[in-house]
Amino acid sequence: MDINICKKNKLLLLVQILIIILNLFYTREIFLKKNSNLKFTNRKSKKDLSVNDNIDLKSFIIRKCVKENQFALTFDDGPNEMTVRHLDYFKSKKIKVTFFFMANRLLDENLLKIVKRADAEGHIIGNHNYYHTSVLEDLRKLNNINDKNKYIKEFKKYFDRSTNLFMKKLGKAPKFFRPPYGDIGYHSAKFINKLTKLKIVLWNLDSMDWYHIQEGQNPEIIIENFLDKIIEHPESSYISLQHDKGEDFEGDLERLDRILDIIKIHNFELVTLDKCLNEEPYFYLIKK
Ligand SMILES: [Zn+2]
Repeated sequence: MDINICKKNKLLLLVQILIIILNLFYTREIFLKKNSNLKFTNRKSKKDLSVNDNIDLKSFIIRKCVKENQFALTFDDGPNEMTVRHLDYFKSKKIKVTFFFMANRLLDENLLKIVKRADAEGHIIGNHNYYHTSVLEDLRKLNNINDKNKYIKEFKKYFDRSTNLFMKKLGKAPKFFRPPYGDIGYHSAKFINKLTKLKIVLWNLDSMDWYHIQEGQNPEIIIENFLDKIIEHPESSYISLQHDKGEDFEGDLERLDRILDIIKIHNFELVTLDKCLNEEPYFYLIKK
């Protein structure tokens, strides 16, 4: 008799635990459904990656071209001395690429000249945030704002700062936005796009050049990274990541020669990001 009661109690306990688990799950789903527009607010980067949405959130983070066999070379972290070197090189080769520039650099007249030159020579300019800081880290600071409207206003202001400066200094502002360190999540990317119309563009080929040009490293691995991705892990198209960075003026142009050869040998069409994504690359001021 006692044993039966004990078994019964155990069974009741199990049922209760199961009900609690189901309840928790249900409440979370209802919460997420109700707050689908606010998911970003208390978002932590880990949760951000666990995509559980009806729409394809992945489409808010672009990593490759829309057409097959296209190859977009992109260079982050300029403008600086290295950008000038790259511009001279691309001019001599009659090649157009895409540069993701940090907006604050436009405040320096000399650096602004480099941005204007890149634009005048037919390269596409993207936005690499106002400063080279993590977007997610910066936005996390807004999480203590409880008023939804105020939160949205501040969120938008964070991105408008760069856009407005580009607009003021260049007369147009990049639509393509690359978060420094590639630090972004799907939900944030979706929300940024919704509020600012910026397109979040990462890459599917990381040359890791910033690392391999450091003293004591082997820059040859930059070339190997291109070959490895194209030959061993092929994709239909590529957006590659390189940087206007470092003092390795020794082999950088020679490496670019070889990278261009690899792209050509593998029958890729070299394109700028606007062609790669079939998108207008800039916002313009609407004249009243
Ligand atoms: Zn960067």
